[in-house]
Amino acid sequence: MENNDHVVDSYGRIAKKLRISITDRCNMRCVYCMPSNNTNWLDNENLLSYEQIIRLAKIFVLSLGIEKIKITGGEPTVRSNVENLVKSLSSIEGLRSVSMTTNGLLIKDKIKILKDCGLESLNISLDTFKPDRFKAMSGGIDGLYKVMDAINTALDENLQLRVNVVIMRGWNDDEIPRFVKFSRETGCTVKFIEFMPLDGTGIWAEEVVVSKREMMDRINKDFIYHHLLPINNDKSDPARLYTFDDGKGVIGFIPSITEPFCQNCDRVRITADGKLYTCLFDNSSYNLKCLLEDGKKSDDEIIKYIRSSIQKKPEGIIKIIKTKSLRPTLNMMHTIGG
Ligand code: SAM
Ligand code: SF4
Repeated sequence: MENNDHVVDSYGRIAKKLRISITDRCNMRCVYCMPSNNTNWLDNENLLSYEQIIRLAKIFVLSLGIEKIKITGGEPTVRSNVENLVKSLSSIEGLRSVSMTTNGLLIKDKIKILKDCGLESLNISLDTFKPDRFKAMSGGIDGLYKVMDAINTALDENLQLRVNVVIMRGWNDDEIPRFVKFSRETGCTVKFIEFMPLDGTGIWAEEVVVSKREMMDRINKDFIYHHLLPINNDKSDPARLYTFDDGKGVIGFIPSITEPFCQNCDRVRITADGKLYTCLFDNSSYNLKCLLEDGKKSDDEIIKYIRSSIQKKPEGIIKIIKTKSLRPTLNMMHTIGG
């Protein structure tokens, strides 16, 4: 059913999904994301409080047609009592799902409680099955076994689970078949993400990006007895999903660089300090926290401001690619939340 409150931008796209980053802090330093020595964390008083997040979420769902919310970071599990936030969000009438993206280091013991609080699905990021490589890619964290433990617990709890893998040439591209095998063995969806120029380390280069096309060619070469078959999925899902002709495994690709999905983008994002971003690849932001703080703005005024901000959503990375300015000064992924 179409919701009359939905916000349509000037390119005809309807905002239906909201990502909320609840902290810019993280207990890892992934090479494709965080600067190795980030000390410019937001102060606690500059973060949206959980009460402010809930007020905004209600506005987005009840008056602006948002249907799904994803909690992200930084690393969302480093902020205390995230389960209370999940519980409050999942009780908003009309919201179809609350999900979370995590690096998996701290989540194992919270999986059951998060599920009981209404978490519908979990994305756990994992880029390698090799302990030394895990250390090299995460800024020195010896955490592979903890993340694997979290993945196994989520599988045992039957929580809808997706494993996110950022593929980088020369770093972990040789493990693509291993991740495919993992999906075929466990049934859990593995999503390969093309490396985007949103890193805080300055290592992004076109040569390091492994395209969806190349990943698929490699998989088809390695799994000669089976073929990848597309699964008809939601056009607004950036992941193009495939299975094999024997029905085992679900493999997704997020080809943000080589096949951008901007024309179907239905996402907007709020950073931990309450700024609304309508596009990952645009630096314009709209300060929602200050509207909440002076205590004088009514819900109607806030709704009007958000509606007009979303209507100005830019075309997306397509424009950047057309003008060949792929390494502009973009936001870092850990501040905007992926
Ligand atoms: N800390 C959590 C995690 O790692 O899952 C949530 C935040 S993280 C910014 C969200 C997602 O963005 C992760 O799956 C991560 O792998 C992905 N990501 C971060 N930097 C990226 C980049 N430069 N290109 C592509 N994906 C990236
Ligand atoms: Fe932290 Fe996630 Fe960024 Fe890795 S991708 S540094 S885990 S925020």
